[in-house]
Amino acid sequence: MTPEGEALLLQGTAELGLTVEDHLPAFAHLLELLVEANSRVNLTALKTEAEIILKHFVDSLTCLRGGHLNGEGQVLDLGTGAGFPALPLAIMQPGATFTPLDSIRKKIDFVRGAADALNLPNVTPLVGRAETLGRDPEHRERYDRVVCRAVAALPILAELALPLLRPGGLVVAQKGPISEEELRAGRRAAGEVGGRVTEVDAFTLPVLGDARTLIVMQKVGATPGKYPRREGVPNQQPLFWTAR
Ligand code: SAH
Repeated sequence: MTPEGEALLLQGTAELGLTVEDHLPAFAHLLELLVEANSRVNLTALKTEAEIILKHFVDSLTCLRGGHLNGEGQVLDLGTGAGFPALPLAIMQPGATFTPLDSIRKKIDFVRGAADALNLPNVTPLVGRAETLGRDPEHRERYDRVVCRAVAALPILAELALPLLRPGGLVVAQKGPISEEELRAGRRAAGEVGGRVTEVDAFTLPVLGDARTLIVMQKVGATPGKYPRREGVPNQQPLFWTAR
């Protein structure tokens, strides 16, 4: 990582009230692995050092706003891609365990390699679909937190994520700006699958100022056995949501 990159990471995380000094070598190593992997396979659209630092590392860490992730328990990252937000969170919170989930094997292969290279024993990557996990007794109602960044519209996320949570658990969803229509559908969908939207936190990304929203949903009741519906259906026929 160049001195300029390091300065950006320090500035961005300081704006979030986080101290990353002790973790600079880990972030530098992750940056190197991403740049190297991106030169072989198209793993993420972000290519420059500054983009990766601000739009992957700092952006991932914005889900620590509000203290919904308390550094303990089991956290599933639904649709982790190349490991975001799971890998930056796992660096910052060694006391929590992270399960980065993605249906695309080559992405999980990268995440596994990165977790090994960075010596992150608290990361257990998994290839699979959220719909399948949500019906599997080994995963249904097993997680304390589900995080997800840039994966799907809120009503779809509600159906995919809430079945995986223990009662009382939280979904922390990272999105760009969200419309009133999407939020309304998301609230209704959350209610349908045993959850409730408890917080909508609009803010701007440190340094760059891009609009972001954190949406928190809590599991307040049991998820009916018919949810999640089979693979692909939550996306094709989102609950209470037609305006796409
Ligand atoms: N969270 C990452 C990747 C976002 S792209 C980031 O912010 O950079 C969305 C990812 O979600 C893709 O990699 C896709 O394969 C995965 N995905 C979408 N629906 C999924 C599902 N139902 N189960 C598992 N993974 C899913």
